[in-house]
Amino acid sequence: MNVELEPVIGLEIHVQLKTRTKMFCSCALSFGEEPNTRTCPICLGLPGTLPVTNAQAVHFGLMMAMAFDCEIAPKSIFHRKNYFYPDLAKGYQISQYDIPLCSNGRLGDVRIHRIHLEEDAAKLVHEGASGRIHDSDSSVVDYNRGGTPLAEMVTEPDLRSAEQARDWLNLLRVTLRQLGVSDVNMEEGSLRCDANVSVRPRGSSELGTKTELKNMNSFRFVMQGINAEIARQTALVQAGEPVVQETLHFDPVTGRLSSLRSKEEAHDYRYFPEPDLVPVAPTEAMLERARTAIPELPAAREERYGRDFSLGGDTARLLAYEPQFGDYFEATTQEATAGVSPAVLANWVTELRTRIGASSDPAESKVTPDALAVLAALVTERRINASAGRQVLDTLVAEGGDVAAIVEREGLAAMDSDEELAGIVKAALEANADAAAKVRDGNAKAMGPIVGYVMRETKGRADGGEVGRLVREQLGI
Ligand code: ADP
Ligand code: ZN
Ligand code: MG
Repeated sequence: MNVELEPVIGLEIHVQLKTRTKMFCSCALSFGEEPNTRTCPICLGLPGTLPVTNAQAVHFGLMMAMAFDCEIAPKSIFHRKNYFYPDLAKGYQISQYDIPLCSNGRLGDVRIHRIHLEEDAAKLVHEGASGRIHDSDSSVVDYNRGGTPLAEMVTEPDLRSAEQARDWLNLLRVTLRQLGVSDVNMEEGSLRCDANVSVRPRGSSELGTKTELKNMNSFRFVMQGINAEIARQTALVQAGEPVVQETLHFDPVTGRLSSLRSKEEAHDYRYFPEPDLVPVAPTEAMLERARTAIPELPAAREERYGRDFSLGGDTARLLAYEPQFGDYFEATTQEATAGVSPAVLANWVTELRTRIGASSDPAESKVTPDALAVLAALVTERRINASAGRQVLDTLVAEGGDVAAIVEREGLAAMDSDEELAGIVKAALEANADAAAKVRDGNAKAMGPIVGYVMRETKGRADGGEVGRLVREQLGI
């Protein structure tokens, strides 16, 4: 059988919420403290304790609902999801089941089925070579993470490739970061992503049998895992064999997938309503507080940069997804003189970003938006050439200062006399008569030694375009 197959992918994402305290108790969230030092009778599940829902986690949940255009349940409730495993001292996880806080939303071109609130489990550490439970010598448990607030997001199966999944996950990450609800760090586990993958004949509207991939803790691993699973399922289907519904474990060392367990069903968990918690019923005031807390989000900013500044796709996205650079770019547009286009300013901002690093804040660099705008203007007006401009930027990054003074001190001003440059071009043509003849005969590549001569004579201050123009003019072409 050799039909063309189409991958279908849906994601389940756990977002650790950046609250001060845990989901149902007042323990502070833990960031690598000594194991089992951030616990209390509630998050250890001791008998006789009562959980209380963290209002800030609900607030973050409402912000996410609004950012993703979800419907908000007037009264969502918590359930107990029962299972026996040492990462849960109570024997159940408090989660939401049939009435989640948010449903039917969207981010970009992916529909969001639901978002619900729950508590994180504790962290098990399997001691042994592979770090996996089956071949470890012993396992220890750290309850610090137990009870951390999570928002679990479930998408519809709207993604069609690993690359699309990665790009969407990146949009999700920058959006959550901008909302300020999470650290969204995959390596540290504050953003975790499981991928559901199936294949089907292209053009079919039915869904194939899916598998669920776990343990991919970076964007690269998500791509690798999904691609490996698409390849595995494709081979099975092409060979006429069935795909078995199961949960697969991604091994970051080998890039391989192995079967973790057969798929569990909801009834295995014996969900029942949590009797110790009141429903979450957002008031008008809570909704209003969430609404006003939402800043401009990356997708909207990207669109605005295209609309208001005519920035191209990649540049608009870069500045929108890294808002500290977007803010800085907008500051340069305030400072710049009329003749300097936003695209040119954006280009200089990306030059600055390359020098200081994407994770730095340009507002804290030694380069002020005003200085960058002045620099962009000098290059636009051809008062210095582009490579001199980059040299000025290097100096600005290292020590700050006044652009005009740097240009002066480093002798970077473009040749202001056309006659002087014309004279040097004339000398260059005489010194490279062979090359000049070739250029005259239509061999543009022969221009190299002529331009090289001019640049040497002018110490790089000549404008390359102007040199080319003068060469052609003097050769009569
Ligand atoms: P389950 O009952 O196994 O939990 P759900 O229907 O709740 O399955 O879906 C869980 C996740 O799997 C969602 O992200 C959904 O988009 C995705 N999904 C469901 N069916 C498929 C499929 N056939 N192929 C790929 N992803 C799927
Ligand atoms: Zn606690
Ligand atoms: Mg499900």
